Amino acid sequence: MNSSLFQKIKNKVNRARRDFQMFERSDRLLLAVSGGKDSLVLALVLKALNQPFGVLHIDLGIDPVSNESGRKVRAFCEREGIQYEIVSSQNEQGLQVDHLNTGTKTCAVCGTIKRRIFNAYARQHGYQVLAVAHNLDDEAAMLLANNREWQFDYLQKSLPVLAAQNGFVKRVKPLCYVREADILELAESLQLDVVRSRCSYSQNGSRLKYNSILAHADQLMPGFVNRYYLSFIRQHALVQAIPAPRDTLQPCQICGQSSSAPICRLCRVERGEWARRRIGSP
Ligand code: SF4
Ligand code: ZN
Repeated sequence: MNSSLFQKIKNKVNRARRDFQMFERSDRLLLAVSGGKDSLVLALVLKALNQPFGVLHIDLGIDPVSNESGRKVRAFCEREGIQYEIVSSQNEQGLQVDHLNTGTKTCAVCGTIKRRIFNAYARQHGYQVLAVAHNLDDEAAMLLANNREWQFDYLQKSLPVLAAQNGFVKRVKPLCYVREADILELAESLQLDVVRSRCSYSQNGSRLKYNSILAHADQLMPGFVNRYYLSFIRQHALVQAIPAPRDTLQPCQICGQSSSAPICRLCRVERGEWARRRIGSP
């Protein structure tokens, strides 16, 4: 194991925790774990920081990734003595990603399913904070995507902490100072048994394209991604002050869950409307 790299990542997580008041040792923290390198490394770092936390993994019904993910999360948590639970989107929401029939919008709908299940679980089980293992590169790619058409009201979503609001628990990103390459190197040095298969729907989304754009920018101008994201989060007070009209949530007219449109994404999927309509369109 590369102990100096582990220490470096641990220090960055602890600094992010303090800089953005993410959580205290007394907080009940729920960690969303996919079984990929980021979430398993973050679990090890939280454990090394003596932060009490529980792990939740969602079986999304994606063949063959979901089976592999569930197996690896179970084996990892049992080996490390970490409290965990695995739930299925079928049981929690009556939906499996492979059965969605949502074309290129599958990732958006899957994101809503995950957010809803993680949040409901946190509330039901008394967790005050939900941690997600998005690293600096993930967040920079999301920021670039939201900048493309200057969606100011989306910028807050790229901050390291999203305050509890509208029925959602506080959401934090403890890996916001950590580069993906460092996580990859550490996971390899620890020989972590992470999920290797790539979700087949990831090819449909634009996320990989933003990752490639930023990787290219980093090659041309070393340090670009760091500067791009870190200078953004240094302005977090300014960004938080931006009015966020799209975040004005209302109860879905069908299921009653918080939604940015009169009928939420998941109800639109169930009504077979998603493929024909964009979010928020009449
Ligand atoms: Fe869900 Fe898309 Fe991620 Fe697959 S790539 S798990 S469909 S968000
Ligand atoms: Zn609904």
